[in-house]
Amino acid sequence: MIEIYKDFCSGCRVCEKICPKNAIEMKEDERGFFYPIVNYDKCVKCGICRKKCPINNEEIEKEITAYAAYNKDEEIRLKSSSGGIFTIFANYVLENNGVVIGAALDDEFLVEHIVVENKKDLEKLRSSKYVQSNIKDSYEKTKEFLEEGRLVYFSGTPCQIEGLKAYLPKEYKNLITQDIICHGVPSPKAWKGYLKHKHNQNIKSIHFRNKEKGSWGDYHLKFEYENGKKYIHHKDDFFMKLFLGDLILRESCYQCKFKKVNRVSDFTLADFWGINNIDKSMNDEKGTSLLLVNSNKARDIIEEVSEFMIKKEVEFKEAIQFNLSMIKSVKKGKKFEKISKLLEKDDFEELFKEETICE
Ligand SMILES: Cc1cc2nc3c(=O)[nH]c(=O)nc-3n(C[C@H](O)[C@H](O)[C@H](O)COP(=O)(O)OP(=O)(O)OC[C@H]3O[C@@H](n4cnc5c(N)ncnc54)[C@H](O)[C@@H]3O)c2cc1C
Repeated sequence: MIEIYKDFCSGCRVCEKICPKNAIEMKEDERGFFYPIVNYDKCVKCGICRKKCPINNEEIEKEITAYAAYNKDEEIRLKSSSGGIFTIFANYVLENNGVVIGAALDDEFLVEHIVVENKKDLEKLRSSKYVQSNIKDSYEKTKEFLEEGRLVYFSGTPCQIEGLKAYLPKEYKNLITQDIICHGVPSPKAWKGYLKHKHNQNIKSIHFRNKEKGSWGDYHLKFEYENGKKYIHHKDDFFMKLFLGDLILRESCYQCKFKKVNRVSDFTLADFWGINNIDKSMNDEKGTSLLLVNSNKARDIIEEVSEFMIKKEVEFKEAIQFNLSMIKSVKKGKKFEKISKLLEKDDFEELFKEETICE
């Protein structure tokens, strides 16, 4: 039987999926994050949920190679968050009759994990969405594809990759996993409230990392509406202030168990913040990724896709010194308690006021 350590539970859903008695259900809390709830009438105390929970995983030392890298295809790079490296791996997998699983916006612009089987649909996965993605049945689908012998590329936050690995019954040669250096995941409820209260018109598209108004480092949140109008803002946008001010992240993000050097994933992707201090020639302001290669499988794939990227090997320690999210959780913003109370009460009117958010 699982005890819910809300401070650490990332909502990866392994316990729910693995329970042989279906005694665990994920329920949304007042801040809009999903947590496992145990039905003690069904629970037989077998302990498998606790055994599989990835927060108990030990870190295993790995050989890691670090690169500053970007996609040679400039159009893809400009549509991606950093250097567009995700698309290179995804294309490789699709060209080998594989499937790609990652985070997309649904019809209501909420974030969920989906399966993509062709290059056109890759666009749905491309670019970061700053909301916790609902993993839905993507672990089950991954297992089905793997058992059919298809190549699977699963991309997600470090907690989602650890969840997937814990869910799968064995190691698969045909599975490629990629996590990110993750700041933390914002509340889906805050996002829903923001959409309703700040963008209450027909939305055509949303891009969290738009580069057209500034550089890669000075990205903007862009909305396009059906009436042709646009909204392009960054630091003055309410949702970005809440996200970057560390006011609406999941509780576990403030003491994340998966921020560590040795990842279970094959690849780790991130923005190469601080690249100018290491190699200015790798920054033309269109986006540079930090690419960490964490396994031999990943090393083999890099050989195969090298022709599609510009890359330079860098010292791992140097590379992460400007991206402490790799190993360190952020602290709660000063107004965390106040914002949380408003979120719990669904008081979005008050929540999205300048004076509520500003220090
Ligand atoms: C919530 C969040 C926080 C991040 N925090 C940092 C950070 O602190 N420092 C840093 O250097 N980089 C961070 N990143 C990673 C960075 O923004 C890029 O995703 C990464 O550099 C890969 O970029 P790319 O250009 O190669 O590919 P892109 O095309 O930009 O990446 C797309 C991939 O990201 C995945 N993805 C998008 N949104 C989500 C989501 N909500 N949940 C899970 N997976 C998602 C998609 O599945 C897709 O596979 C964060 C990303 C997210 C989603």
